Amino acid sequence: MKVTADHDLTAHNTLRLPARAQWWAQPASVAALQALVQDPAWQGLPRTVIGGGSNLVLEGTLPGLVIQPQLRGIRVEQDDGSGLHVTVGAGEDWDHLVAYTVAQGWSGLENLSLIPGTVGAAPVQNIGAYGVELCERLVSLEAVDLRTGTLQSFDNAACHFGYRDSYFKREAPGRFAIVSVRLALRRQAEPVLHYADLAARFAALPSAQQNAAGVRELVCALRRSKLPDPAQLPNAGSFFKNPLVSAARFDALQAEYPGVPGHRQADGSVKLAAGWLIEQAGWKGRALGAVGMHDRQALVLVNHGGADGAAVRRLAAQVAADVMARFGVGLEQEPIALGQVLSPDAVSTPA
Ligand SMILES: Cc1cc2nc3c(=O)[nH]c(=O)nc-3n(C[C@H](O)[C@H](O)[C@H](O)COP(=O)(O)OP(=O)(O)OC[C@H]3O[C@@H](n4cnc5c(N)ncnc54)[C@H](O)[C@@H]3O)c2cc1C
Repeated sequence: MKVTADHDLTAHNTLRLPARAQWWAQPASVAALQALVQDPAWQGLPRTVIGGGSNLVLEGTLPGLVIQPQLRGIRVEQDDGSGLHVTVGAGEDWDHLVAYTVAQGWSGLENLSLIPGTVGAAPVQNIGAYGVELCERLVSLEAVDLRTGTLQSFDNAACHFGYRDSYFKREAPGRFAIVSVRLALRRQAEPVLHYADLAARFAALPSAQQNAAGVRELVCALRRSKLPDPAQLPNAGSFFKNPLVSAARFDALQAEYPGVPGHRQADGSVKLAAGWLIEQAGWKGRALGAVGMHDRQALVLVNHGGADGAAVRRLAAQVAADVMARFGVGLEQEPIALGQVLSPDAVSTPA
């Protein structure tokens, strides 16, 4: 297994922040990853896994081994004629997987079209878009414990999925490298059309196109019209989670700001639109040095060129402080800050 020293990570994160890996490895099999983790040469060093870098804020040098799994493959495991299970290597590109499944006529992932990144990272924050979250399709996953090299299986419940959250993000950050993911898909299209603009466009399609491929095309078009392409304007997608507040808090906000958008959740809480709060706080299209909030999508923090992780931290803190001062609502950053590494021993094991 080739391990290189002092690897430049600028091209490995979609915010294009300058950062380096002390040691860099790209294992292409579970065995290679296990051998790397168990190699006495690397004992005692921190280990960090990254995928496509589309949900990262990098800064400085990441100490120890930085591992980018390259495991490939899309395999049908089980097919009863109406539904099937597909096992996918962590190093596959997520949108390539969605395009592949849709091209086979399989349904289930189409609403998650065009989300950047790898399959292995998708469970970490339980990716979601247009009314579907990964946790609704994931059967199980396999992951290598970065302390021991042991391969472990996690069923859906063991992943402790939440809104942009999972066991791997919250309870055991940095402890596991996910190596494969098993997903349940359907042969019959069952379009999920909770979003009004998606539903309206879908209804206008000729009936022959009212299938998974039709949904994928519409989702891609909607995303391209709303989100800046990181290849043109470096960004990490939504920079803050949509905050959840109690119904009472929402009613109080609504009394003061009648236009405040909110989506009532099954548990009675209300999900606010972080983009709206940021826009109202005056940050839409505004910059602080080389970074700013996008002029069409206030929730997206963009690098106008030459920014580093510290500049991103400063802007994020200022935006969150202004939203707190105006609305009394806290914003939680969605992308993961790497540059300091958590000890794998400092985390709990799953129940
Ligand atoms: C333009 C844009 C739009 C986006 N839209 C959405 C959206 O609609 N919905 C959404 O949910 N997200 C969205 N995102 C965020 C991002 O695409 C997802 O979080 C994606 O899953 C990150 O994948 P990645 O491979 O780039 O992971 P990285 O950014 O490299 O890593 C993210 C985290 O996962 C960990 N990780 C990565 N690979 C593994 C692995 N194999 N095993 C264990 N841990 C791992 C890393 O340590 C890190 O903590 C968007 C991002 C961009 C830039």
